[in-house]
Amino acid sequence: MEYEKVIGLEIHMRIKSQTKMFCSCKNALELASEPNVNVCPVCMWFPGMLPVLNKEVVRLGLLWGMLMGCEVNKHSRFDRKSYFYPDSPISFQITQLYEPIVWAWSVKALVDGKERDFAIHHMHLENDAGKLSHAGGKTLCDFNRAGSPLMEIVTDPVFHEKEEVMEFLKELQKMMRAGWVSDADMEKGQMRCDVNMSIRPKGSSELFNRTEHKNVNSFSAIGRCIDAEFKRQKKIVDSWWEVDQETRGWNDDTGMSKSQRSKEDAMDYRYFPEPDLLPLDLDEDFIQSCRDSMVELPIQKRIRYLSEYKLQDDDARILTKDKELSEYFEKLVELTSDAKKSCSYITTILLALMNEKGWTISISDLKFDISEFAQVIKLVNADELSSTNSKQVIEELYNNGWKADIIIDENNLRQKNDLGALEAIVDEVIAEFTSQVEDYKWGNENIFWFFVGQCMKKSRGQWNPKVFNQMLKKKLG
Ligand code: ZN
Ligand code: MN
Repeated sequence: MEYEKVIGLEIHMRIKSQTKMFCSCKNALELASEPNVNVCPVCMWFPGMLPVLNKEVVRLGLLWGMLMGCEVNKHSRFDRKSYFYPDSPISFQITQLYEPIVWAWSVKALVDGKERDFAIHHMHLENDAGKLSHAGGKTLCDFNRAGSPLMEIVTDPVFHEKEEVMEFLKELQKMMRAGWVSDADMEKGQMRCDVNMSIRPKGSSELFNRTEHKNVNSFSAIGRCIDAEFKRQKKIVDSWWEVDQETRGWNDDTGMSKSQRSKEDAMDYRYFPEPDLLPLDLDEDFIQSCRDSMVELPIQKRIRYLSEYKLQDDDARILTKDKELSEYFEKLVELTSDAKKSCSYITTILLALMNEKGWTISISDLKFDISEFAQVIKLVNADELSSTNSKQVIEELYNNGWKADIIIDENNLRQKNDLGALEAIVDEVIAEFTSQVEDYKWGNENIFWFFVGQCMKKSRGQWNPKVFNQMLKKKLG
């Protein structure tokens, strides 16, 4: 029996606000020098403390929704999710269950060069818990992370292959970074992903029980987890057993997962409207100010490069990888009006030079002005510089800076296009090699390149072979 995977994701993203979600403590987890320094009675959840919602968190959450093209809710509210865990001693989390801030739309990603839309169910805001570490038989609590703002993004079960999941997550990560919403670094726990998965016979719409894997913490680990879980579920179904609906923990070192919690002991969170916070009602001005800070997303840019500049997908992906590079490319196109050459000169010559020594050199470190780069391309297009020699000019610009025209003239690389002078050389060659001309006229076409070679020789290689070529063809008939 052939099966297909049905996968949905829940992703927690740390919002990059200055301060925490409900207090004025610094939301700078990575900078904290020691445990329990960015804390106060609110985020340590002392009894009786009152949360105050951080406007910046709402603004960034809304901005995320807008960047995704999601439906933004003017009205949303917070719910209290009850549970006890030592890293959340107040015994609840403030989250949004019934009326989240963003109802979804979809996220675009390119899978195998094809544009795909992946549906998002919703995004809600909630606070993070503290962190436990286990050492010397003791468990230690660190509340630096407690009360940090999170976005939880819940997708529909729309993925069937791990490649789709990975492309989607990479796109999501790029979007977060482009919009300054989150650094979304998986290693630092700023982006944490739960994988919900079930299988079904190919083509069927029926769903078997699903399992949930919590906090799988790298893109490649997610791929491995999906592969292993598919095998595991397939084996169970093939032996006529039923997959347990449960939460499992993925161990990337062993490549196996272990059951953590089954449906029978699933918790009842006893959700109810958060009594300490008013519902969130956003006014038009606030929404507009979020809209004003929107940026073009990497995926939008990549798709635009395909249609506007007619680039290949691989090139578009390379050029949109970072903002500085894509801005450089667009400027070069503006200066040369030649997207194709601008792209190939950047991707095949400039980036190769930048990567050559294994250093990370950025565009802003380049020793020459972009107008000099543009001049090289313009001269190639005007047949004043051969493409072979253009590479040498760019290398020289790259190594020592200076001006393209001066480098070209100092090295005698300029192709001359003075038609009168070129014609004189062509006439000279035809007069000199009469027997070869006879040969050619009798049908020996191979000899044509002999004439081009002679013309180039007489012009000491400085003149344009293309023009010689055309003139010879005309004159020899
Ligand atoms: Zn605090
Ligand atoms: Mn959550």
